[in-house]
Amino acid sequence: MRVVMLASEAHPLAKTGGLGDVLAALPPALAAAGVDVTVCLPAYRGILRRLDATGTPLRLHAPVASRMEAAAVVAIPEASVPTVAIRADRYFDREALYGPPGGEYPDNAERFAFFCRAALEWLRRLEPPPDVLHLHDWQTSLAAAFLRGTAALYPELATVRTVLTVHNLAYQGRFPFDVWPLLNLDVRYFAPSWLEFYGQVNYLKAGLLFADRITTVSPRYAEEIQTPEFGEGLDGVLRTRSEHLVGILNGVDYAAWNPASDPNLAARYDASDLRGKARCKAALQAELGLPVRADLPLLAIVSRLAEQKGFDLLTATLPELLATTAVQLAILGSGDPTYETALRQIAARSPGRLALRIEFNESLAHRIEAGGDIFLMPSRFEPCGLNQLYSLRYGTVPLVHATGGLEDTVVEFDPAAGTGTGFKFAPYGTEAFVAAVRRALRLHADPAAWQRLMRNGMAQDFSWHRAARSYARLYGQLPPPEVPRLA
Ligand code: ADP
Repeated sequence: MRVVMLASEAHPLAKTGGLGDVLAALPPALAAAGVDVTVCLPAYRGILRRLDATGTPLRLHAPVASRMEAAAVVAIPEASVPTVAIRADRYFDREALYGPPGGEYPDNAERFAFFCRAALEWLRRLEPPPDVLHLHDWQTSLAAAFLRGTAALYPELATVRTVLTVHNLAYQGRFPFDVWPLLNLDVRYFAPSWLEFYGQVNYLKAGLLFADRITTVSPRYAEEIQTPEFGEGLDGVLRTRSEHLVGILNGVDYAAWNPASDPNLAARYDASDLRGKARCKAALQAELGLPVRADLPLLAIVSRLAEQKGFDLLTATLPELLATTAVQLAILGSGDPTYETALRQIAARSPGRLALRIEFNESLAHRIEAGGDIFLMPSRFEPCGLNQLYSLRYGTVPLVHATGGLEDTVVEFDPAAGTGTGFKFAPYGTEAFVAAVRRALRLHADPAAWQRLMRNGMAQDFSWHRAARSYARLYGQLPPPEVPRLA
């Protein structure tokens, strides 16, 4: 089985979020499962720096509008699986992947249309062609539409099957109709039943329609996105592809996220000896300037500051919670300035109770995962979520909105049976959230029950092997491509 993954991120070469983590871990896990996998990325500035001068690039041209744009395919040395990059410095040799902080490059529609065309030109020259082309998110979705919608350009690739993984349906790559000529697709594809989305061109929709199979990153999210509430306007399209849509839960890189070996921590621990966790809590309280108190429950948040992550709920409920309850709270986050301001105001009113760090700090994220007692993740929606999985392994009990990957990975604790791994609330709203926090705090006052709960979570295994096996099975079962036809 030979698979090529087209993606716009792969840690440590290029990362802005969870997509980068998946592309770091899934390909090696697939390789370990016997799949021959190659990753193809845009040659961003950070990648250009790592190229050695010895390799001979493959030169090619790709159609963009009426031009043929030059590109070079370069091999990236020392990657965990074979990795190539499409080099076209006018598109990718820039400061950021997608744009300046909070913004987008004005030519992103062209950059990623070009990337997809150039990748197909490279694939045409592979002998033999891959069995599967695995696409990720809107940046690479067009490759499926190009492959089928302009099939005459790619006769060598007629048997290639395509899979599209949707990591977050909220990001779709929507552009004004002006970009249409870049794509070299029949203008009849600019229709609501094809790539048009309320007058715009929707790149992700191209992938949803043309890919042979669609996956998303948890089973529950795969169901949810077929409903108007979570479908981001594409639920109708997804319902038409329901039979070919499956949720495969992401995994955790336990080499990086393991309290027994984590170099970021003040002490190490595991489920058989939790003394190190108490030391991590004290060290974290000291680091963050909170009173060092073993008896006070320490609530924790590590998150992008975004509406998706439930910050409307948090900013509405935290002031009263902090004022009326004996708890401490540590928040690490960066993103939307609105929430930053709101959280700063709450922190100013809760000295010694709320420690707020507005930054992206990988090492502190580990120490918060280790030092906290309860990890809050009240996401409005959550395709998979990683932090609740890290929390489970670190014995920091997750408290989550029962949605998407959170619903799939956290089980409500049953004090009578001693089963379960965390606390869940639904519907999404302040009342249910606060009730769950109160439930958690009541149980925290019972050390024996709490230890049971922690150990249940620490025993969970969300390693990548399982996900890799599911993807390998999916690849193996792909039927010959079915080509959607223009009416
Ligand atoms: P999403 O990809 O939607 O942001 P996930 O929970 O899937 O959410 O993954 C987020 C990843 O980014 C985790 O590895 C988390 O630890 C990390 N992260 C988010 N915000 C920060 C931050 N401010 N500092 C350090 N790490 C962060």
